[in-house]
Amino acid sequence: MKRLVSLSVASLFLLVAACSAGDSMSSVGGMESAVEEESAQPETSSVEVVEECDPLVAHPKGAFEFDPQVDESLPESWRTEFPVILATLQAVAPISPCIHDVREDPAKSPMKIYAWSSAVDSPFEDERPGMEGASVSGDGTDTWMVLEIEANDFASGSLHIYSVVAHEYWHVYQRGAWTAQGLSYPDWMWEGGAKVLEELYASEHYGQSEFDRNLFPVAATALANPSDFGLYAFKGGAVGGEYDRNYNTSAFMLLALAKELQERQGLTEVESLGLVLKAPAPRGSETPFLDVFGMSLEDFYASLAQYPAVASGEDWFEGTVVDASAVMPSKGLTLGEILQPTA
Ligand SMILES: [Zn+2]
Repeated sequence: MKRLVSLSVASLFLLVAACSAGDSMSSVGGMESAVEEESAQPETSSVEVVEECDPLVAHPKGAFEFDPQVDESLPESWRTEFPVILATLQAVAPISPCIHDVREDPAKSPMKIYAWSSAVDSPFEDERPGMEGASVSGDGTDTWMVLEIEANDFASGSLHIYSVVAHEYWHVYQRGAWTAQGLSYPDWMWEGGAKVLEELYASEHYGQSEFDRNLFPVAATALANPSDFGLYAFKGGAVGGEYDRNYNTSAFMLLALAKELQERQGLTEVESLGLVLKAPAPRGSETPFLDVFGMSLEDFYASLAQYPAVASGEDWFEGTVVDASAVMPSKGLTLGEILQPTA
């Protein structure tokens, strides 16, 4: 059953915006100022009724669906594999139907997915001007997925042509699980989660991943101030910045958190990975990290000092790196077991 509850809209929107401003949403003009205006309202001024969504209950709008637009600039092999990846992800990690109720930066169902090869200009320029790279993007009225697949990656045999689908899909999952529940997490959990998810997908389905190379390089200098990873580089933090190449350091932090949970709370590897990826805090919690993991963010950041800095050992990367081997997931794990619903 859905219930109607009175919530402070001002505070709810603040939480929602704090999450969804992540990733490529920075390109959405005017959103930040709109948020500030909203937060300036007295919290008691609004008594608007907001529906409380239970992710376990069928939504009147049905399941959240996707509407892929796959351009023929992509090789047939990719066009064949893509729907398999999407269906696999939807089976192991269905998007919470509560995403239907996200008011700030809403996502309509079915969500458009625009996919094309970087060998050509965007074939969707008329419908969605200016798309490039890979992201979940929005304009304040709707949200869509951008998959410009790197032509060079086909030539080099990089699995990123496929794993990027899992990465961006996970950002939609996070919106349904976190944003729609009014939960705000540090940005390293958004990108570290998407990176870990994509590598777990590659490992399970293609037999190799960047875990095989211990996510090299995890720059040691980056971890001198782990709290910098609370924010994206474009917001003044470190996520996706110079010391977070391909989100390797954000992903390392997520895996280090899973390791802490195994050691402090006796969780299995599978349990701990499921917990750090899904982070299912109570709706509207203002301390979701503490609620889910039983430790404060500061406590966790301090634990990262246990990982020694070592020489890079690679000519192309100067400086010291963190030996991340101790936190790499075991081979042979499946997303099905990691993400299985907990009773
Ligand atoms: Zn991302």
